[in-house]
Amino acid sequence: MSVSVVGHSNPDTDSVAAAISYANYLKATGTDAVACMQIAADKLNPESKVVLAKFGLAAPQELTDAGGKDVALVDFSDLAQAPANIGSANVVAVVDHHKIGDLTTNGPIFFYAKPVGCTCTVLFEMYKTNKVDLPKNIAGAMVCAILSDTVNFKSPTCTDADKAAVKELLTLAGVTDQDALFMEMLKAKSSIDGVPIKDLMFRDYKDFDMKGKKVGIGQIELATLEQVAPIRADLFKALQAQKADGRHSVLFMLTDVVKEGTDLMVVSDDPAMIESAFGAKIEGQSMWVKGMMSRKKQTVPPLQKAFGC
Ligand code: MG
Ligand code: MG
Ligand code: MG
Repeated sequence: MSVSVVGHSNPDTDSVAAAISYANYLKATGTDAVACMQIAADKLNPESKVVLAKFGLAAPQELTDAGGKDVALVDFSDLAQAPANIGSANVVAVVDHHKIGDLTTNGPIFFYAKPVGCTCTVLFEMYKTNKVDLPKNIAGAMVCAILSDTVNFKSPTCTDADKAAVKELLTLAGVTDQDALFMEMLKAKSSIDGVPIKDLMFRDYKDFDMKGKKVGIGQIELATLEQVAPIRADLFKALQAQKADGRHSVLFMLTDVVKEGTDLMVVSDDPAMIESAFGAKIEGQSMWVKGMMSRKKQTVPPLQKAFGC
């Protein structure tokens, strides 16, 4: 039986590229394997679609039920992110860069994880150490995965190993301009052309309870704030409607990945409190918060403090 190599649910570019890369590695080292993902090809995120098209790679096969199969997991080991019936699958390997999840196995398996920025960095080391030939197009997808996971080296999760892998993978893939490649991916990821305002607003949106007050925070990552200029007014109206539905505040992070900051749109019962939370001033509908990239690490904690949580 061939091994189905599969990444986490709601796959990102790392899960897709790592499945392709590890399936190729297994085949090259004598184990029949097939790259899989937990969605159909047409459901892939825009960034991953661009990456596969750019390097001429087929999308991994859809795998939603792992029952009775030999599987290898890449980019996760949490059961909540696994295909259905993972409990009756035979997990033969895990290659990852996250904390160890709650997967358990009946027998010994190949388990390789490192605290680096991307699974493809771990895989690259495996290819190198074991002198396995790495095809040009797979190297291309792997470098994209590392740039995506590390936000072009700007994420605090990025390590020297990721940077070193990118350097060599760019050469293998025949790509000369790392920043241009990242921008191409970012443009695809942040494309808002034809996306309904509501879809955009809820693409990455979470409600939080702050001392009994409901606060909504959405985010999109952009290559430049100019991308949203035509839709700002409509977006603000959508935020106002969302706030009117029982919320104290609704914030929307227009994150400029290049300038490394966020234009924070604010609709609130207490705008002055939001201003003091981030040490910035609202001009019109928003305020520029320098360095703000992460909702989890940089937006929620100051708000919780301001709300007295
Ligand atoms: Mg991932
Ligand atoms: Mg990853
Ligand atoms: Mg990711």
